Amino acid sequence: MKKSGKNFDSFCVKENEDQKTTKPHQLPLYATSSFEFNSTQEGIDIFTGKESGHVYSRYGNPTIDTVADKLAQLEVFGSDIEAFGYLTSSGMSAISTVLMALLKSGDKILTQGNLYGGTTELMLKIFGRMGVEPIFTNLQNLAEVKENLAQNPEIKVIYAETPANPTLACIDLEQISNIAKENDVLTVVDNTFCTPFNQQPILLGIDFVIHSTTKYLNGHGNSIAGVIIGKKDHYQKEIWTALKLAGTNCNPWDAWLINNGLKTLAIRMKKHNSNALAIALYLDSHKKITKVNYTGLTSHPDHELAKKQMKGFGGMVSFEIEGGMESAIKFLDTLEFCTIAPTLGDVDTLVLHPATSSHLNVDKKLREENGITDGLIRISVGIENPLDIIQDIENALVKI
Ligand SMILES: *Cc1c(COP(=O)(O)O)cnc(C)c1O
Repeated sequence: MKKSGKNFDSFCVKENEDQKTTKPHQLPLYATSSFEFNSTQEGIDIFTGKESGHVYSRYGNPTIDTVADKLAQLEVFGSDIEAFGYLTSSGMSAISTVLMALLKSGDKILTQGNLYGGTTELMLKIFGRMGVEPIFTNLQNLAEVKENLAQNPEIKVIYAETPANPTLACIDLEQISNIAKENDVLTVVDNTFCTPFNQQPILLGIDFVIHSTTKYLNGHGNSIAGVIIGKKDHYQKEIWTALKLAGTNCNPWDAWLINNGLKTLAIRMKKHNSNALAIALYLDSHKKITKVNYTGLTSHPDHELAKKQMKGFGGMVSFEIEGGMESAIKFLDTLEFCTIAPTLGDVDTLVLHPATSSHLNVDKKLREENGITDGLIRISVGIENPLDIIQDIENALVKI
């Protein structure tokens, strides 16, 4: 701490001396862009990694690093794997940063057609233009995966999302990771829908996990951020370098909000899981509902796989309503308890009509091929009393 100066105006400028309180019970919010050094030598030692310490908040910050490390530990919880985590400014920046770190022009990505919309666009519009071509295939079909790898030695990364929007189709992560290892290919999984409470891809052999923490990990819908998690020293340096140079770091305030959300992650996920099952069962028995997609239902084509690789079936349900577009819109507009909003994973129940929102600009034939029909509705089941959610749906269904 430098001297404050003798004059009022200098005193205003200087940071006041820390009053040296006892250890804070809750994580402090370090709103500082840089960290000061006691001497030039200390600066050199920290910059060269000889001593630990913070330098500049784009490189790392105590609030951000504490939360990133907690997420990394949760992702490999129950195993003896040591993991690293980096928080990013959004889920999209977690995806772009990990791909920038692992790929170069001429490489290819093998992935699926039913990814989060932004991810598909990122691969086509940004990575495609930079010479990293995405190949879209059905990752559920392992013969197809092997054939693609045999025909395209340029594939360096397999990128998967399971369960995938909106039909909740699942990909066998253990099998994909085995095939990838046999072919010297790295694997990245978007685990946003599950969180480590329901699924731990790294324990199944996957190299890297990304999340949009905006969703369940924060859970309260008040921040946008993401995280990249991997095994310690396994491309850790490359990922950190990409993050640092692309400047895709998270900010301390969003990290702090995630930290608050994480405290109730287990209790929230447990309730999301049980509420979603209750709502899926209710919908499944309703005569105006023609189809329900939920991995917890024995009728779901991937129920057995989900049971094998997931510890809970999650909070996302989608269903098709009788009467197509007109009924779907009337249904949504009649709801009084559930909220129409284009996000998921919040504590309250959110509904979305993909055909008129997230997939409005997607060709009708293409979206129907991916299970997004005019009558499809997606519901992110919250942690309220399930009777209130069911009552609201019931009231709306009576009116269509
Ligand atoms: C929301 C979402 C993303 C993108 O995350 P942002 O935080 O909005 O950037 C990526 N993948 C999935 C599965 C998502 O739901």
